Amino acid sequence: MLKIFNTLTKKKEKFKFLYTKIINIYVCGVTVYDLCHIGHARTFLVFDIIIRYLEHIGYNVFYLRNITDIDDKIINKANKQKESINLFVERMIKLMNEDFLSLNLKIPDCEPRVTECMKDIISIIDILLKNKYAYIDDNKDILFSINKHKNYGLLSHRINNCFYNEFISRFSSNINNSNDFVLWKHNKNCSDPFWMSPWGPGRPGWHIECSAIINKFFKNNVNIHGGGIDLLFPHHENEIVQLKSLNNSFSIPFWVHVGMVMVNKQKMSKSLSNTIFIRYLLEKYDSEVIRYYVLLTHYRHPLSFTEKQLYLSNNILRKIYTSLLNCNIDCSIPNNYEIKTRNIFKNQFYAAMNDDFNTPQACFVLQRLSQYINKTKKNNIFLANILAHDLVAFGNVLGLLYHNPKNFLFPNCRKSMVDIFIVKKLVRMRNSYRLDKKWYLADIIRKKLLTLGVIVEDNHIDSTYTFINKF
Ligand SMILES: [Zn+2]
Repeated sequence: MLKIFNTLTKKKEKFKFLYTKIINIYVCGVTVYDLCHIGHARTFLVFDIIIRYLEHIGYNVFYLRNITDIDDKIINKANKQKESINLFVERMIKLMNEDFLSLNLKIPDCEPRVTECMKDIISIIDILLKNKYAYIDDNKDILFSINKHKNYGLLSHRINNCFYNEFISRFSSNINNSNDFVLWKHNKNCSDPFWMSPWGPGRPGWHIECSAIINKFFKNNVNIHGGGIDLLFPHHENEIVQLKSLNNSFSIPFWVHVGMVMVNKQKMSKSLSNTIFIRYLLEKYDSEVIRYYVLLTHYRHPLSFTEKQLYLSNNILRKIYTSLLNCNIDCSIPNNYEIKTRNIFKNQFYAAMNDDFNTPQACFVLQRLSQYINKTKKNNIFLANILAHDLVAFGNVLGLLYHNPKNFLFPNCRKSMVDIFIVKKLVRMRNSYRLDKKWYLADIIRKKLLTLGVIVEDNHIDSTYTFINKF
């Protein structure tokens, strides 16, 4: 049975939901003020795997992820670039979608933008104010008062803070806590975007967005809430305290958090200029290589990014694809044929995935199975075909091995075949430039041919060419 580590209880717990039930998953989405980086890739790849696996074992999943399309960082960046906020946001969302599609990430069943949910946000702030969970401060901002909740800090296990809060509130319920957070920012700068509310023009704080969206789409029926570990405190703590204030019986059974991505042992940040953008990696590596690389570290552990490790992941994946070469994965499989051998790998794969999505272990099973296929190929191609079929099936559960092995292993070969007419045309052009002694233009074409994997060799009459990669 599947067990998932629950941040709330700090334990691996059985995932006991009935298969007839739809599993509702909420994951905090992107604040679209810049290109998406490897940290985003990791978080959303992990939830992609979780959803793929839940669906694979028979659950129906409803995946909800928000887009934060209004925020100080967005306003500042758009202003800095002298771009309208709307156009900037549209551009950023388009780029995000391109990156996520390239990574073959599951598309959420519903992906509301915060600005589309303004009515819902305003209405729950109104309830929180009326029930005295929130107050208006001297700046006309609306803040949530965490002193009202003695369990504040339970999720992030900062319960000591809670005792401190209780201690304060016993003496005076009017003293505000430094952890009180903004629900509604009063509009102070006329040029900033704003929405009208019963408390005047303004815009929502970050934490209330997710609570309002969860309340709108799921009511009290979320099974898994997820996000990066950096969101645990205060963002998720604030989300749950808001939801509990709306409905005291509100509970989220599973909280799943993904470890940070570190670069040179430091958190990625603008000031350190060490941000690794997804599209930079996609220029150099197939998206399955990035996926495999992410899966080689357990999702709860920090991932220390190095390009060397990414390169090694590429090599491992190439070895796996190499074992699939010349195998017929669509072969028909007689009942119970070599069931013992097949079950060894099958049991290991599911044991790994059922143990809190232990993907490094699951990847290790793929590697061992691929080695076994290589051995088997030599004397029993029929069994090798069946095992190759199993290998691809396990890979697909992880969002891997969707390529034709030849295309993955020899992409240049395919390109060269397709581009042969262009190559011939370019060589003819270059020869005529050489005849006219237009050496500069001839050299440009030589370089262009090199990028297509073609080397030209000149003799005194004509040029011949060879492909660098002959397969
Ligand atoms: Zn959130």
